[in-house]
Amino acid sequence: MPMNRVQFQPGLSMPEFTKLYGTEAQCEAALVQSRWPTGFSCPACGHGGHCLLPSRPRMTFQCNACHRQTSLIAGTLFQGSNLPLTTWFLAIYLVSQAKTGLSALALKRHLGVSYPTAWLIHHKLMQAMAEREDLYRLSGAVQMDDAYLGGERSGGKAGRGSENKVPFVAAVSVDDEGHPGRIKLTPVPGFTTEAIIEWSKDHLSPGCTVLSDGLACFGGVSAAGCLHIPIVAGGRKPDELPEFRWVNTVLGNVKTSLSGAYHAFDFGKYAGRYLAAIAYRFNRRFQLKTLPERLLVAAVATGPRPEAWLRMAEDSC
Ligand SMILES: [Zn+2]
Repeated sequence: MPMNRVQFQPGLSMPEFTKLYGTEAQCEAALVQSRWPTGFSCPACGHGGHCLLPSRPRMTFQCNACHRQTSLIAGTLFQGSNLPLTTWFLAIYLVSQAKTGLSALALKRHLGVSYPTAWLIHHKLMQAMAEREDLYRLSGAVQMDDAYLGGERSGGKAGRGSENKVPFVAAVSVDDEGHPGRIKLTPVPGFTTEAIIEWSKDHLSPGCTVLSDGLACFGGVSAAGCLHIPIVAGGRKPDELPEFRWVNTVLGNVKTSLSGAYHAFDFGKYAGRYLAAIAYRFNRRFQLKTLPERLLVAAVATGPRPEAWLRMAEDSC
């Protein structure tokens, strides 16, 4: 893989960012453009004609047909927030440009907000990334492995099924030339055939060829119309086999991100969101410069995700 293409690509520099999104008016204009690329459309009746109401804390549109008033942030991820848009945009910039992720604590310091506010911003943005990732399935050749959060990765099989660890599937699609494409990092209830069947139906396109080690549950991918090729290593750990090169690289990245940026978090509750944020950045690794814009579009599309919902969401999964 041409790693230099990733490492040396130009991102969006801080001066460039400030020039583009340094004022509230610039952020408002960018948010309007993301939300209504072809012009305002009333959420109630679809009418385009409108007037802007002055002297509001937020830019507010009033529909000329039904007179409904719509705040610029209503119905987006930013709904309910009193923060300036410049703070949100700076958070989007920092989160999207940080290669190995950014903790809520680092966000608190950079944004000059309280820790609870930084936590909320962080989780809302990670949720937007997670929902974006859910839209995509892996296709073609896929390398797949079992892994755990909250402990050393189970290279040897002894760690499998240990308590106090969150099991997750790591999978990478690989093209004909052996280059990695997209990745998926998804918590599963356990490494059972049933769990892998469900995972495969949600995350694999039918017709995939899936390489895994000999763990029996991976045979479940065939229920999603995929061909399963178990690689049973003759005396060697599967980690060392070229067939698993990319999935092992990805798991190495996960480990670096989690130990570097996030020292500790509630794995059981929030693992899915943290892993999806890692996958989101990896899957857009060639688009560093446009990543803030993409994340803004995702935030607009995601809709409101209040704190209570963010704190309980994964408990119900
Ligand atoms: Zn209307």
